[in-house]
Amino acid sequence: MLAQRTLKSVTRAVGVGVHSGRKVELTLHPAPADSGIVFRRVDLALPVDIPARAEMVSDTRMASTISAGGDPGAPKVQTIEHFMSACAGLGIDNLRVDLDADEMPILDGSAAAFCFLLQSAGIVLQDAPKRFLRVTKTVEVRQGIGNQLMWARLSPHNGYTLTFEIGFNHPAVDATGQHVSFDMGTGRYKRDIARARTFGFTKDVDVMRARGLTLGGSMDNAIVVDDNRVLNADGLRYDDEFVKHKILDAIGDLHIAGHPLLASYTAFKSGHALNNKLLRKLLSDKQAWEIVTFEDESKAPAGFAELAPAW
Ligand SMILES: [Zn+2]
Repeated sequence: MLAQRTLKSVTRAVGVGVHSGRKVELTLHPAPADSGIVFRRVDLALPVDIPARAEMVSDTRMASTISAGGDPGAPKVQTIEHFMSACAGLGIDNLRVDLDADEMPILDGSAAAFCFLLQSAGIVLQDAPKRFLRVTKTVEVRQGIGNQLMWARLSPHNGYTLTFEIGFNHPAVDATGQHVSFDMGTGRYKRDIARARTFGFTKDVDVMRARGLTLGGSMDNAIVVDDNRVLNADGLRYDDEFVKHKILDAIGDLHIAGHPLLASYTAFKSGHALNNKLLRKLLSDKQAWEIVTFEDESKAPAGFAELAPAW
């Protein structure tokens, strides 16, 4: 049986929220089979649980934010996408995530530190079959026209592949690869995707800070680009780190489906908002997906049955 996974032991991390700038302590707990990934705000007088599910997403302007009941005025957790991406990359199905503030720590701006944290706690198999969400019909969302056009699509595929193209017209980004494809079944998530950091342009910083965003952002947790070049002294971690981070984000945004996907995802300039719209469109069409399990591991798509380093 291809089984669900959770953590072996409790683990902790402390960091700062990239938008709020606030310090946050994170405690990851093992969770029962079929419980999914559930965030818990333990700083509130009465702790509030917020399951990582598509309908709980309440804000996607700069990051993916979930709120209790999907109500923007209810207790929330901001910037969950890099953590969710690490969970998807390591094939983790069930987890309780306690935090004492309303934003996940940004750590180094990638998913690598979350992968390290999860793997350090140990990953165990549970006595229940892993429930995949298999896409059975192509679903697409589009937005804008001309230079503003962006789209994202999920199509049936026996495995999980992602293809992303960005179209930044910027000297520092033009020189890097702006198109990348990644196959989860290769088990190379941690090596090829997880280390890609979020990025920001200095020209946007003042505007975002005026809106109370990126208060915790710095060159320690982002690639910072001015009008011409990357300002980080050590440069890029991958030649195509920008587009790889967009794949990392998409993996996290799509893991909010509540199950690992079996699908081919293709996107052009998509972001958190469009990824969530795509997920909601998919889930609202009962003809477009089904839940599948693999009692016989040999019937699972190639690479999905191996425990480490991914899936
Ligand atoms: Zn990101």
